Amino acid sequence: MGTTAVSPDRGVKVRATKLMIGNQWVESVSGKTFETVNPATGKPICRVSEADAADVNKAVSAARTAFESGPWPKMAAAERGRLLYKLADLLEANVEEMSRLETLDNGKPLMESRNVDLPLSIATLRYYAGWTDKIQGRTIPVAGPHICYTRLQPVGVVGQIIPWNFPLLMLAMKIGPALAAGNTVLVKPAEQTPLTALRMGEFILDAGFPSGVVNILPGFGPTAGDSIARHMDVDKVAFTGSTEVGHLIMEASAQSNLKRVTLELGGKSPNIVFADADLDQAVEGSHTALFFNQGQVCCAGSRLYVEGKCHDEFVKRSVERARKRKVGDPFDPATEQGPLIDGTQRDKVMSYIESGKIDGARLMCGGERKGGQGFFVEPTVFAGVRDEMKIAREEIFGPVMSILKFSSLDDVIHRANDTDYGLAAAVWTRDIGKAIAVTNGVRAGTVWVNCYGAFDPAAPFGGFKQSGMGREWGEYGLQQYTEVKTVTMKM
Ligand code: NAP
Ligand code: MG
Repeated sequence: MGTTAVSPDRGVKVRATKLMIGNQWVESVSGKTFETVNPATGKPICRVSEADAADVNKAVSAARTAFESGPWPKMAAAERGRLLYKLADLLEANVEEMSRLETLDNGKPLMESRNVDLPLSIATLRYYAGWTDKIQGRTIPVAGPHICYTRLQPVGVVGQIIPWNFPLLMLAMKIGPALAAGNTVLVKPAEQTPLTALRMGEFILDAGFPSGVVNILPGFGPTAGDSIARHMDVDKVAFTGSTEVGHLIMEASAQSNLKRVTLELGGKSPNIVFADADLDQAVEGSHTALFFNQGQVCCAGSRLYVEGKCHDEFVKRSVERARKRKVGDPFDPATEQGPLIDGTQRDKVMSYIESGKIDGARLMCGGERKGGQGFFVEPTVFAGVRDEMKIAREEIFGPVMSILKFSSLDDVIHRANDTDYGLAAAVWTRDIGKAIAVTNGVRAGTVWVNCYGAFDPAAPFGGFKQSGMGREWGEYGLQQYTEVKTVTMKM
């Protein structure tokens, strides 16, 4: 167990603050710690041990030992499932505490932590718990006097680097399939949001996972993250975060041991509204598609293409909706929008708003910082956005809606695809022909029709193009944590 610190905020108790290596809570080798901050106040919550290369070495060696000897590799597959179910149960039994801790560390509204992040994290662990004893190879009818079959084996020691926008959910999406397939892992949470991952470490111990199967290493990207990506004894790295760092992870793999790499990166997802859509649904759905989680979502509907025939009415209603959006204390049950994650992110978002104005987009509402403390930005809507503007091309990762006008189906599909990204897309229409044309024509890993951000752990999620490599969730997500072994026997 880590040190106990009582947060000055909301009486949420921060329990675990050290590194978890080989089922022990330990200080970092350097003795260094860093602060995690409450984004709603800008004030520190507590200090957390800071892992760097030396701690990564220790964790890799614990994970390697656990992968090769001890109970884990010998364990029946169903027993791994039992441990994952138990972990899900422990998380469920502590939903209130974990929701509050997530909101404290990340700033997202408590209602969302409680109703989205927690249930989806639990469902993800249960989904993969159910897979453990259903990971099957095939028998292959090869020529000659041979029997040939495949086995799906774990990849080995897996490093998992996660971002701050859905700290607990990203952790569940990483460890769920990795452990189901029999790997051992070391996880680096984002520096801004280490607290729920550390508390999960306690649940992992309580559930009874053998020593070294899961190791948790809060720390910084260029030190801890980079040494995971370069480590010669890490078999795979799974990363979620920016496209820029995704490139660095690939390079590190190429320059070290060609470790397997899966990437979930950024997006600039087109959300296409036809004039025949149910406009009330499309306005509300597009509002949530962009503003959910303060706009800090990789698949946010950040290029909102609206058909000319309904454009002005749509803009009017979207602006009214954004003006009504309740921004404030994330612990208030009425709050829809909390602060951004930190000052850097807030400044980045503000600079995109400036660039939208300079490029001649029409600022319809918002556009300013909000409140005297914390990292709040007003819900902001730009109309008259053109494809070549920076706000239409680059990922803003904040509460800034960009509305673009279109006139024909072919034109909007072409424009939707004119991007380096390909994470998600959506189309709002009552015309099945248009819906199918968009779902077929847009190059993106997920396409929603008359909805947005409908997630399920059974449905794969991931990107085309520079939005990533591989998939998370679903059977595809599991396969990314296995190697295929072909066995051929002479009869
Ligand atoms: P980021 O730098 O890509 O961070 C994601 C994770 O990678 C963090 O754990 C980070 O550590 C780590 N990291 C950073 N540099 C690394 C390196 N050289 N080697 C290995 N790991 C490294 O993202 P960010 O700075 O938090 O956010 C910046 C932008 O990323 C956002 O504006 C947004 O566009 C995008 N983003 C996308 C997603 C997504 O879900 N696709 C999520 C978050 C952010 P630290 O904790 O030290 O940063
Ligand atoms: Mg924090």
